[in-house]
Amino acid sequence: MPPKPFPQLSTDQENDLKLNTEQWALTNGLVMYPPNFDLHQVNVAPITLFPTPIPKTSFEQAIKVQKLYNELYINLITKRKDWLIDILQSLAEFDPDFSGKLFDVYQESITDGVLQPLSLGIFRSDYMVDSSEQQIKQIEFNTVSVSFGGLSTKIGQLQSFLNSTGFYDKKYNFRYYDEDELPISSSASDIAQGLADGNYFYNGEVANKDTIILFVVQPNERNCFDQRIIEYALFQEHGIRSFRVTLEDVDQMITKNNDKLYVKSTMDEISVVYYRSGYGPGDYDSNPTKTWNARLFLEKSQAIKCPSILTQLSGSKKIQQLLTNESVIKQTLPNIDDEELLSLLSTFVRILPFDDTEQGQEAAKLAFEKPENFVLKPQREGGGNNIYKQDIPAFLNKISKKDWGAYILMELINPETYRNKILRNGQTYHENIVSELGVFGTIVFDEQAGAIKSNKNAGWLLRSKFETSDEGGVAAGFGCVDNVYLY
Ligand code: ADP
Ligand code: MG
Repeated sequence: MPPKPFPQLSTDQENDLKLNTEQWALTNGLVMYPPNFDLHQVNVAPITLFPTPIPKTSFEQAIKVQKLYNELYINLITKRKDWLIDILQSLAEFDPDFSGKLFDVYQESITDGVLQPLSLGIFRSDYMVDSSEQQIKQIEFNTVSVSFGGLSTKIGQLQSFLNSTGFYDKKYNFRYYDEDELPISSSASDIAQGLADGNYFYNGEVANKDTIILFVVQPNERNCFDQRIIEYALFQEHGIRSFRVTLEDVDQMITKNNDKLYVKSTMDEISVVYYRSGYGPGDYDSNPTKTWNARLFLEKSQAIKCPSILTQLSGSKKIQQLLTNESVIKQTLPNIDDEELLSLLSTFVRILPFDDTEQGQEAAKLAFEKPENFVLKPQREGGGNNIYKQDIPAFLNKISKKDWGAYILMELINPETYRNKILRNGQTYHENIVSELGVFGTIVFDEQAGAIKSNKNAGWLLRSKFETSDEGGVAAGFGCVDNVYLY
């Protein structure tokens, strides 16, 4: 069955819907700071007025395959460490200023032995639903600083409220969508639970409320409310406090005693270092010596890192490309059954390397002959780095051929478009949008021994953007937070 159309409202009704949307958002923290903000003033986060249709079967597959993805990525680190480290070393050569530096910090942090074998992953696997196959296809697997888990819960609550109170209905008295068509993501609670799990295992499997979570954040973070929602859930639901610090302020605010980290001002012991910064080179630019030293200082401690450096680096696009190979999957997940294998493989599109292999030669050919079908991606996190379609040939010609190895060539996914309405800075935009479904997962594991201590789903996120925009970053101004209407 095709999805129902978006609600058709009169102008007055839509104005009313907009007012109620904005005031709900401001009341409940579905907000973001505007650029160049004052601390006391926020904006409604960029959101859609209506939920966007996603096939229920696609949604369910994405949710179901998440724990397998969690395991796949941590097995790379625990069961195939030598292989992974070989790859990371070659990445370091292509990207010495960032991946290389991270790798150096990793090596330095273990010079006196591993201080904390346990590691926490909070991951998000992003997909688009391919319109011809009606099948989820993975965009990327994020292993560091995944965002919008907080705001995703909020928009689910908002749209469910609007639906239940009749704002989507022409007569103001019906639910336009059935309740089970509009699920609410539990990501805010579930990510807090992941942090609480880290705290629990740090304390020898005891729910200790005296140790705290260190949120390492960017200075002037516009999306801090997304993080705050998780902090407040952590306190409300687990009684665990958190402390926020930028990389630049680590030496001033954080101290170490017997390899344990403490907040200087209170001497609260830190169980988990949760990075919501430090994932891109820009996070170290302002004061490289100080910020890289801060990273090493935190790494070389008994606190559980979320993520560890190996976990962070395993989220690189190069690893994603290598994982599209069936035999690599089988080696990394030796116990995978046929159904699970098929399910994983069905989420891949073609990703090609630029190297001496046959695949590499094909990439070099396709990039020039059929660029309209591809996106070229570097090994960088954080948005704005990809080269799309017709721009690819000129870009490759511009850089030296020996640097091509730093990129992967990925087949473009063609998602369905919908004419939803986007609300941004008080303006409503009525254009074609495409949506990206992100599924969160949390995992606590022993990076040395390989044991998985907990492996959980943690809700989802739907982000949408204008069809005409290649990139999808919400904070960067390309996209907005949405929620699913399952059909
Ligand atoms: P980043 O690390 O910058 O987040 P992504 O791989 O997520 O990099 O790419 C950024 C955006 O580009 C995605 O959110 C998506 O909108 C678009 N994109 C990336 N890869 C594809 C693809 N294979 N097909 C279609 N769109 C893509
Ligand atoms: Mg992305």
